Amino acid sequence: MTRQEKIYDLLVLGGGPAGLTAAIYASRSRLTVLVVEQMLSGGQIATTEKVENYPGFPKGIGGMELGQLLEEQARNFGSEMALATIEKVDLDGEIKKVHTTDGAFQGRTLIIATGTRSSPLGVPGEEELKGRGVSYCVTCDGAFFQDGTVVIVGGGDSALEEALVMTKYAAKVYIVHRRNELRAVRILQERAKANPKIEILYNTVVRKINGKDSVESVTLENLEQNNGWEIEVNGIFLYVGLLPNTEFLNGVLTRSENGYLITNDNMETAVPGVFAAGDVRKKTLRQVVTAVSDGAISAISAAKYLDQLTEKEGMK
Ligand code: NAP
Repeated sequence: MTRQEKIYDLLVLGGGPAGLTAAIYASRSRLTVLVVEQMLSGGQIATTEKVENYPGFPKGIGGMELGQLLEEQARNFGSEMALATIEKVDLDGEIKKVHTTDGAFQGRTLIIATGTRSSPLGVPGEEELKGRGVSYCVTCDGAFFQDGTVVIVGGGDSALEEALVMTKYAAKVYIVHRRNELRAVRILQERAKANPKIEILYNTVVRKINGKDSVESVTLENLEQNNGWEIEVNGIFLYVGLLPNTEFLNGVLTRSENGYLITNDNMETAVPGVFAAGDVRKKTLRQVVTAVSDGAISAISAAKYLDQLTEKEGMK
């Protein structure tokens, strides 16, 4: 029987820490599980050079390695993996259908753990110079800027963490932040402020990214002084927040004003048998540790839902 013909107990959408943890827990509950991931196991964390705050790894662990280990653990307990892009879902009826670039998969329950992606900044030059100096991933592209000058936009954990990684390659790293106070956790602020290669430009925004074939400069504006100026740079990395990956749902499930999926404490959405876990969910703290927690809870909830269905069927 092909994977497309099979009816799985659980389809997990997204192979990040939330999805893979759900797969580990569900497989151990002896559910048949298929994880659908479009790119890399680990999701966003696979593009993080080092994860320092996941308990149990006092020396930190590479994001890519953590993703691979989570996948291995899920496979060890019997989870299957499909590499495909999700196009749409059909949540009506007892069997949920997930249409992908590799055909449609069927499941009696569904956990949506599709995470987030980087938000664009939306300035002139960004779209045109994407991949030619405009990037959203230091771990992927940082090494191209050896001894160069780069700008990192944003004041959150991602911006500061990646600015610090960038100092391994670049000669000079500007952090451009729109406020006079950083949002990132204190330890990252301390490290960034102490790093001689980093200069933080507060109350400053990027108005334009300039260049013909690749990024040559950025036009900045200081919001307090209302003055604009241009600095020559080789690259610009944008870390201005995240957008939830929910387009394939076509508005089917309840979402917050920012598009994140709304669940209760058991990770249940408004549709019976459909759960959400990890960064795609409306929550206050987006970390690996909260993603894996969501994943575990969602899997146990899915298993309970299936038990109740079986009980009901038995009473008929
Ligand atoms: P974030 O926390 O939402 O920070 C986005 C930053 O971009 C903020 O500083 C924000 O400024 C700025 N920004 C937003 N829109 C902007 C615009 N249009 N123009 C200029 N600046 C703009 O996003 P993140 O840093 O990617 O983090 C996302 C989540 O992942 C967070 O929960 C974070 O804790 C987590 N994370 C954790 C770690 C870690 O634990 N090591 C690492 C990475 C990410 P304001 O501050 O003024 O709003």
